[in-house]
Amino acid sequence: MIIEKLVVSPLQENCYIVGDEETHAGAVIDPGDEAARIITRVAELGLTVRHVINTHGHVDHISAAQDIKEALGAKLYLHPGDTMYLDETVEHAKMFGISGARAPSVDVWLNDGDAIAIGKLTITVIHAPGHSPGGCLLQLGSDVFCGDLIFAGSIGRTDLPGGDYETILESLEQKILTLPDDTRLHPGHGPATTVAVERQYNPFLQGLGAA
Ligand SMILES: [Zn+2]
Ligand SMILES: [Zn+2]
Repeated sequence: MIIEKLVVSPLQENCYIVGDEETHAGAVIDPGDEAARIITRVAELGLTVRHVINTHGHVDHISAAQDIKEALGAKLYLHPGDTMYLDETVEHAKMFGISGARAPSVDVWLNDGDAIAIGKLTITVIHAPGHSPGGCLLQLGSDVFCGDLIFAGSIGRTDLPGGDYETILESLEQKILTLPDDTRLHPGHGPATTVAVERQYNPFLQGLGAA
């Protein structure tokens, strides 16, 4: 299995390319900026990408989605809870210095529990709101792409439109702390971590049910 992280945009967002080495099918997760660089890397890896899947709809995660899906002949997947951000993509991108952003058109709406086949790999969708209403975890075996729900040592902000602190704590308790300890977490910003490490050291998780 291929998992590659490309740090893109002035906001240092983690775009991930995942791929199945057997069938050469791949997916792009959270293409926030630098479409050309992501497309080049997909080609270098020899992957055929038909899926662009977003953990959530914030500008720093989705600005390059339209360019990438058109270039690769892929479909864009997003949870409908985050539609409110889509029309603001271009305007917000300018504010954050993200160049070349385009308003994304979503092809497939994600639901909690969806299973998306990428060659012989399966990505399972886990709805985990709080940072945004439509935030989702994308689970690929023992690897979970968690967007801005949780970071190494921290959690996502809840002061943006649609964010809610009580809801994010509920998601962390029910959707992160219930995962096996050895689950690798790949966040939307910063380094990867594991459920075990966050359970023990993340100050925001202390006092939650399963911590
Ligand atoms: Zn976000
Ligand atoms: Zn972000």
